[in-house]
Amino acid sequence: MRIDADTRVVALLGHPVEHSLSPLIHNTAFEAQTVNAVYVATPVRPEDLADAVAGLRALHFLGANVTLPHKQAILPLLDACTERAEAVGAVNTVVRDETGTAPILRGDNTDVPGFLAPLKETRASASVQGGAVLIFGSGGAARAVAYAVLQAFAPSRLTLAARSPDKAERLAEDLAAYDPNEALCVVPMREAGPMVRTSHLLVNATPLGMYPHTDGTPWSQVGDISPEHVVYDLVYNPEETRFLREAAARGAITVSGLEMLIAQAAAAYRQWTDQPMPVKTVRTALYGDKIA
Ligand code: NAP
Repeated sequence: MRIDADTRVVALLGHPVEHSLSPLIHNTAFEAQTVNAVYVATPVRPEDLADAVAGLRALHFLGANVTLPHKQAILPLLDACTERAEAVGAVNTVVRDETGTAPILRGDNTDVPGFLAPLKETRASASVQGGAVLIFGSGGAARAVAYAVLQAFAPSRLTLAARSPDKAERLAEDLAAYDPNEALCVVPMREAGPMVRTSHLLVNATPLGMYPHTDGTPWSQVGDISPEHVVYDLVYNPEETRFLREAAARGAITVSGLEMLIAQAAAAYRQWTDQPMPVKTVRTALYGDKIA
């Protein structure tokens, strides 16, 4: 990678950022396509977020990714947001848009298309359309997934199985405008058995099972899972979590969070560069890298 006077910068704003795979993903893609840009992870404390956004603007950064704890807090600091970022209430991608009279910083949420892309590639998506879906968790990722599911699949039922049902109720209220079939319902996580058994798609949007606590799983009653299920784990480290391993052993179709990680990155990359990300090259770099 050659850095010269024309090199553009993309930053990851988060705290912490040290373990992020995004620099590997995007720098691999920039290099493969000889895009004159570099991706750097920058630790930004919450009290410094406004200064960091002003810095993106002043220094002509090509854009940014945004991760915990800034995904919500950054919204009012930007000039515009896509409809999906507004609906989810969180931004994970910032794009410097220079098409108007003055450049603006636009926020987007590429977790929404990033979640949907791997599902569309499996034979699973037909069975999910109009079916019942269950999401474990009610945090930021669950928000993006719930919005994506409502928009793409018009589910007959969308259950939020949460450790904190009051938080899940708030999520359901926030997304009510996107739920014309009134599919959203909330159940305490430990009482989710009947909903798990009768859902077509199960999504883990909690950190349960993530390295180093790889014994964790959102649902340990493996007898509830059958070959009719599509089981999707947002956790990407390890690539095959306990939840996915046990679901695969029961005959379910499984989708790894690593595929979503690549797809959400590809959706951001396209906006920064106007080019499709070289996904095959990125996948080789990632899968070749020891992540667990
Ligand atoms: P978050 O906003 O902190 O939300 C975490 C959710 O998990 C909350 O609902 C939380 O419940 C629940 N939770 C945490 N520990 C739990 C436990 N022991 N038992 C039951 N529920 C528990 O985090 P997030 O941003 O939504 O991320 C969630 C996961 O998705 C993370 O592992 C993250 O790495 C992954 N993710 C992956 C991608 C990808 O591209 N593959 C993208 C985004 C996120 P409370 O509300 O009760 O605390």
